[in-house]
This record gives sequence, C-alpha cells and structure tokens, in this order.
Amino acid sequence: KVRVRFAPSPTGPLHIGGVRTALFNYLFAKKHGGDFVLRIEDTDQNRFVEGAEQYIIEALEWCGIPFDEGIGKDGGFGPYRQSERKHLYKQYADFLIDKGHAYYAFDTAETLDAHRKDHEAKGKTFIYNWHNRLKLTNSLSLSAEEVSAKLNAGEPYVIRYKSPQDETLHLKDIVRGDVEIDTNILDDKVLYKSDGMPTYHLANIVDDHLMEITHVIRGEEWLPSLALHYLLYRSFEWEAPQFAHLPLILKPTGKGKLGKRDGAKFGFPVFPLEWKDPKTGELFAGFREDGYFEDALVNFLAFLGWNPGTEQEIFSLHELIEAFDLERINKAGARFDNDKMKWFNQQYMQQKTDRILAVDFQQSREELKDIDINYIEMVVGLIKERATFVSDFWNLSHYFFVAPQEYDAKASKKAFKEGTADILKQLLDIIKPIGDFTATNLQTDIKAWITNNEIGFGKVMQPLRLSLVGALQGPDVFEIMFMIGKQETIKRIQKVME
Ligand code: GLU
Repeated sequence: KVRVRFAPSPTGPLHIGGVRTALFNYLFAKKHGGDFVLRIEDTDQNRFVEGAEQYIIEALEWCGIPFDEGIGKDGGFGPYRQSERKHLYKQYADFLIDKGHAYYAFDTAETLDAHRKDHEAKGKTFIYNWHNRLKLTNSLSLSAEEVSAKLNAGEPYVIRYKSPQDETLHLKDIVRGDVEIDTNILDDKVLYKSDGMPTYHLANIVDDHLMEITHVIRGEEWLPSLALHYLLYRSFEWEAPQFAHLPLILKPTGKGKLGKRDGAKFGFPVFPLEWKDPKTGELFAGFREDGYFEDALVNFLAFLGWNPGTEQEIFSLHELIEAFDLERINKAGARFDNDKMKWFNQQYMQQKTDRILAVDFQQSREELKDIDINYIEMVVGLIKERATFVSDFWNLSHYFFVAPQEYDAKASKKAFKEGTADILKQLLDIIKPIGDFTATNLQTDIKAWITNNEIGFGKVMQPLRLSLVGALQGPDVFEIMFMIGKQETIKRIQKVME
C-alpha cells in the first residue's frame, strides 16, 4: 500500500513551497488509494517556533488537503511528533555503532572551528570524513578504554555516521533519474547528540521505516542528503523507499529561489495564511487573508513543477488526483508567476455561485449588512466578470447600493456637452411613464426615442451612465436602472442636472 508523508519542521510558517510538497504527496497518495501522513520533525529544539505546528495543520486544512494520519489522527504508527518519539532513536544509533557504521565523537565546537579555519587558510574545505577522522577525537582514534572513560565521565558526545571510502553510489530519483555520488565527498554526519536527541537524518530514516513509508516526495533542497539516506537504509539492512525530489520554486523574475521576504517585494503572499513572527512581530501576508480562493491556489500550485501534458489548466482537486503522475514532474525550477495565480483566482471566481460570493461580499462590507441578500446576489452576477477578488466587488458595484456623491471630473467633461441638460429632461419624460420597469422595457422605449429623434446614442448614454454610476463604467445601463428602481433612477438623473 502506498504511504507517503509530509514531514515539516516547525521552524516557522509553512512556505508556499511546503504547501506544494504537501499537495504532491496528497495527490500521489489519493491517486493510489494510499495514506498521507503528517509527521512533525521537531528534533531541533533550538529552531522550534511557537505556533508553527498549529499553522501547518491549519494551512493544510484550509487548502483542503487533509492528512489521513498525524497529530490527532492516529493510524497506528504514532506518535507523530518526533519529540514524543525521542526514546526510540538511541537503540538505532547503537545498532549502527555495533555494526561499525557509526562512532562516538568528542570534538568540541572550538576544535572543529579551528580545523575549519585551518583548512580555509589553505583554501580547502574541512570535511569530517575518512581522511580527517583519525586526526580528531573520536572512537576511531581513541582506545576502547579512553572512549568508556569519556562516556562515564559524562563528556558531551555526538554519534557520527561512518561514510564509506572510495565507493560510487548509484542513487535513483524518480524526477532526476540516476544520480552517481562518490562517497569520498561525503562527511560523517551527526546522527545523535548527547542531549538525547537524534538529528534530522537519523530520525527521518527511522521514522520513514517504522511508519512504512513507500515514497519520499520532498523538495530539491534535500537531494544532497539522498546519499546519506541511501547509506543509512543499507546499514540498517532496510529496504529504502522510492524518492522524488521536487524542483525549486523560483522568484517571479525566474532568478533565484523564492524566499519568504519576496512576498513583500513582489506585492504577493508567499504563505498560505497570514503569519506574525512571534519573535520579531513581523507580519507576512497570506493567500487566505488576501482573498485568494483555496481551490484556485491548489490548482496554481499543482502546476509549479508538474503539468498534465495537455492544454487543460483548470483542474478540480478530483481531476488533479486523476491526472497526477510523478513521472511528469519537471527537473527545472518552476517560476512563481503571480499574474498566473491571479488569473486562476479570476477563473475560479466565475465558477462560484453568485450566492456564495454574495454572502462573502456582504460579510466584508458594513454598508451591506441590512441589504437583501437576493439583491446583492444579482449585483454580483452583473459585476463579477470584471473581478479577481471579492474585495474588488465594492469598487465595481457601490452605485448599486448608494447614489454617487460626486462625478468623475474627466467623465463629466466628456459626457456633458451643450444640450445635454435638455436631452436628460426629455429622457425623464420617456422614463417616467414606464410602468413595468424592466431592463427590456427600458431599452425598447429609450432606444426607440433616440432613433426616432436622431439624437445620437452617446449623447444620451454617457450622461445617463454618469448620473447612475458617477463614472463612465459598469455593466449595461438598462440593467443598472432596473436594479436600482424607477424612483432612484429619476432621482439620480435629476441630481446630475443640478
Ligand atoms: N523535516 C524536513 C523538512 O523540514 C523533512 C525533509 C524530508 O521530507 O525528508 O523539510
């Protein structure tokens, strides 16, 4: 059975790249009738950020890509927070030591720093590996007695992985194909620390194994860790899952990785939900608060690094599940195109019912509190075509609710010519007797009057529109008159003549 996991570290809010990773895991799991697991990788307590875990869960919920197993949803593989699994990991580190795949190291931070500086001075990079490890303080360079003495004395230690020497590893990645790695470039990564905490590498491999994960789908930034992860599976004599590393998400300019501050820079959120940094108080915009639809966002994210191979762009979540395929993920970085995101939002807006949008609209404006929802719904139907966000509605429709208080100066100049007042007076005489005040009746009578008197369409329509809207914009004037009603229409025409 397919089992995948999304394994964020709660070191901050979920970046849009994280949501994309979660989405691809979700789509793959659902396509294959598998499970989507959320695991919180909180072994690095120095980087723990208050509220981040809650944020991650809320963001996935809002996006409509819920996990099957995780915090609060036990599927028999819990607990799902690594800090609660702390007691599990030491035995695996010990196993590796017993098998000769790992060793104790006692180097202080100062010693390591000195080595690094020393190498740098010679223009080299210090690597803690087969070449250097015997010069350092560890159980490969000390006698068994010395090691026991240090451990008994409670000296701080780490357990390091012993990378093999002179080997070429053949790694497989579903997106990248075959990757070859020379083990001599690998350093002996820390797996476990004397504070009783595993590092990411150990905890991640142990948990993927214990949770029976079949496919690891994660960001490209983890590709450099793949060799070590392969080696760990081999050393544990466990079958490794299959790997797929997703391409980077690039800035809108296409240059460089999209960063958390790029949102403010490009005037666009890069987080699903608004986030206030608990330490600095800095506020980051969120798609939800900025009025994006979650289904539009999901559709947009699906196309960051994947495509269905057809022209179709609008996909429901269900259609995405059907179409999704790891083989169609691109290697090249995916440019974050905010205009495209807006386009998706606009498309999704047209698909939503006027009723649902009207309810949102009413909640967003104090002025609409007491207005009949059916009326708001009709207004939305007339203007939504021109909107990208519900927050655009008021600018596009205020004149359906309140008479224009002033008239756009440029528009006035254009609409008001000599004789306009007289034309409007005649127009009122046409409008007043219309009993059944529908858009069709208005259109028939007004057009007939214009044609019969050879007045010129623009000479009537422009001042009329100005009186109703306050500007020369908006949908069909006959629709507007019908909507606001006879009395209000007459009032507005009289007002513009003053
Ligand atoms: N905890 C890692 C992260 O924050 C997980 C990487 C992985 O999926 O292996 O992204």
